[in-house]
Amino acid sequence: MLGCVPDLDPEEFRRLGHQLVDWVADYRAGVADLPVRSEVAPGWVRSQLPAELPEEPRPLGDLLAEVDRVVVPGTTHWQHPSFFGYFPANASLTSLLGDMLSTGLGVQGMLWSTSPACTEMEQVLLDGLAGALGLGPEFTFAGGGGGSIQDSASSGALAALLAALHRSSDGAWRQTGADGRERVYVTAETHSSLAKAVRVAGLGARALRIVDPSPGSLAMSPAALEAALAADVAAGLRPILVCPTVGTTGTGAIDPVRAAADVAREHGAWVHVDAAWAGVAALCPEFRDLLDGVELVDSFCTNAHKWLLTAFDASLLWVRDATALPAALSITPEYLRNAATDSGEVVDYRDWQVSLGRRFRALKLWTVVHSYGLSGLRAHVREHVALAAAFADRVREDPGFTLAVEPSLALVCLRVVTGGGDAADDAASRTVLERINASGAALLTHTVVDGRYVIRVAIGSIATAKEHVDALWARLVETAAQVRAEIAAADALRREEPS
Ligand SMILES: *Cc1c(COP(=O)(O)O)cnc(C)c1O
Repeated sequence: MLGCVPDLDPEEFRRLGHQLVDWVADYRAGVADLPVRSEVAPGWVRSQLPAELPEEPRPLGDLLAEVDRVVVPGTTHWQHPSFFGYFPANASLTSLLGDMLSTGLGVQGMLWSTSPACTEMEQVLLDGLAGALGLGPEFTFAGGGGGSIQDSASSGALAALLAALHRSSDGAWRQTGADGRERVYVTAETHSSLAKAVRVAGLGARALRIVDPSPGSLAMSPAALEAALAADVAAGLRPILVCPTVGTTGTGAIDPVRAAADVAREHGAWVHVDAAWAGVAALCPEFRDLLDGVELVDSFCTNAHKWLLTAFDASLLWVRDATALPAALSITPEYLRNAATDSGEVVDYRDWQVSLGRRFRALKLWTVVHSYGLSGLRAHVREHVALAAAFADRVREDPGFTLAVEPSLALVCLRVVTGGGDAADDAASRTVLERINASGAALLTHTVVDGRYVIRVAIGSIATAKEHVDALWARLVETAAQVRAEIAAADALRREEPS
């Protein structure tokens, strides 16, 4: 069946598809031998791609040659077993197969009626995962709430904020917009996506209140939250949303959800839990207490596209009131009207997000959940937490290093110790990180806590095994020893030649 301008004929697609699957299989089989971080200079990739678009069709084989020559060297390999940066972005081959099904079907899932399977598979999966994570029946469709797959935790936070604005104004916000009295409560460690959501929602930076941590910790202080809310209410301001984070991006700090929710609810503020990275650990009963108090909150987000083996994008957002997002976001032009929507019996996920169109993301998540089984997903999480615990023990036992904070699940934050004081330790930590990254043997990222430089080791890439963590530790020890020796040599030189 050929259209006016023919697409691949199905037999040709089969042949080329096999070739492409072979390419991906070879890439994954060999990714461990590539330098983790792309070393190309800015502009190199652009300089290598022909600026002129082709007037005539080119064979796909030519394009693959360009992928090998330009794209692979220009890529930082997130699926590399020695990728320890940011948080992992596991793109299991299993999820890739599900993603292929999704694109193969080529569905637009904006309305139930534009493809019932796209909507209902998502509902079934999110209801099931709510149970598996221990979120409680109030977050399922049967319980009056429900979940959705967003493109990102950032979008989920924005959607939650819009629902909160709607609720707190009894809907008036839809007519009038913000009035400048809205306030949103986070900590200094909260992900920047909350600040961005506040900006996008038009609340202005003044709406963002940074709540102090409890003494000696990086987690939100319920007392400070209480004080901030009380002071704002007394000043005629309106607390809209409180965002406790379970597993902050910098250090994995865990805000007290129950206490924050107790305080927020007194003032009618929406509680959105950002557990983008750590939330999936609650699949394991031993980590369930991470989510203590979650039954009190209004929305909860965790990313399947970080630690849960599902290729970007698949951020899971649950709300306890299934009407909250549609109330804030639904706008129905005539061309989207249909009998199923009018019947009120279906979910139209376009009303749960900012954009109209949506991919059939449930297929890749479904493929992952069913192929691994919950036991496989738990084993994956447990493996990385155990590797991180063993790695943290080595840091503790070596006087040349120190833990910046106690490890959080599979995230270990450390510093190099030089004996030369804080500034020297910070400089040495930075040098060690930069040298390891430049070597291509592993990729690490950093944060700054209380003004101090911190090396983050986020374990959890799909291919990471004990040998890779051992190799990272050996390289850290070796590189730190070099840096300390250089410092000692420079000190000796300075003593010899007093200026
Ligand atoms: C990664 C992360 C986010 C942002 O996730 P996206 O899905 O990329 O928007 C938000 N919050 C926390 C705690 C994160 O770790």
